[in-house]
Amino acid sequence: MKKDRLKFLEALVEAAGPSGYEEPVARVWRQRLAEVAEIETDVMGSVFATLNPKGSPKVMLSGHIDEIGLQISYVSDKGFLYVNAIGGHDRTVIPGRRVWIHTAKGRVPAVTGKRAIHMQTAEERTKVPELHELWIDIGARSREEALEVVELGDPVTYDVGFSLLRGSMATSRAFDNKLGAFVIAEALRELANKKKLQACVVAVATTQEEIGLRGATTGAYRIDPQVALAVDVTNPTDYPTTSKEKYGESPLAKDPPSPAAPTATRWSSGGC
Ligand SMILES: [Zn+2]
Repeated sequence: MKKDRLKFLEALVEAAGPSGYEEPVARVWRQRLAEVAEIETDVMGSVFATLNPKGSPKVMLSGHIDEIGLQISYVSDKGFLYVNAIGGHDRTVIPGRRVWIHTAKGRVPAVTGKRAIHMQTAEERTKVPELHELWIDIGARSREEALEVVELGDPVTYDVGFSLLRGSMATSRAFDNKLGAFVIAEALRELANKKKLQACVVAVATTQEEIGLRGATTGAYRIDPQVALAVDVTNPTDYPTTSKEKYGESPLAKDPPSPAAPTATRWSSGGC
């Protein structure tokens, strides 16, 4: 992969963007396309990058930039933070992690905790903890001390950065779906180099997918395209414990083998 592309992908996944709080990611995406396309941002925070605005047909490329996260809902007298979920989590992977709390004054490092295994019954050890049985510790000793640093409603993301395994296999949190947003941004940059582009192409970095596909819906109404392509991630089925019989052939780092036609949605036509 070209160096500038890799840098862009890394910047996208390193920027926090839990649903409803996507601005840091939107900023990175906007900067990447500002030199080649007309840029607009709607009230939902979705970013639109348009090429050839007078062209036809109108094609929408869509990729959501939000990620799952947590949100502070309660601070105990002892200064421990309790959270609600932003999007769907596997609760088995929440405890024992470093996290970032994104406050108005910047991000605050913290850790997630639950009762130590030594203090669990044999039955408790086999159970997945409920969200209210987990907490976040910022090192505060009281509610007052904690509230000097964080506020109720502050969003939280996992502290997992971008890294390459064996030099080429990328790993990070939030590839769902900053990778899709990356693909449509780079596709638009490629199209910007085409001299005879007939279509109007609008790449949209959409918000709030994880909590109800909201930004893509409002984005599609705003653009009213004839054709729309949504790019998102899927699960590979070539790692241990998955089932090809159940989930089909879906190899990692290869094109999908299915010959299925691309998803296309017809909308009423209109000028670009
Ligand atoms: Zn997704």
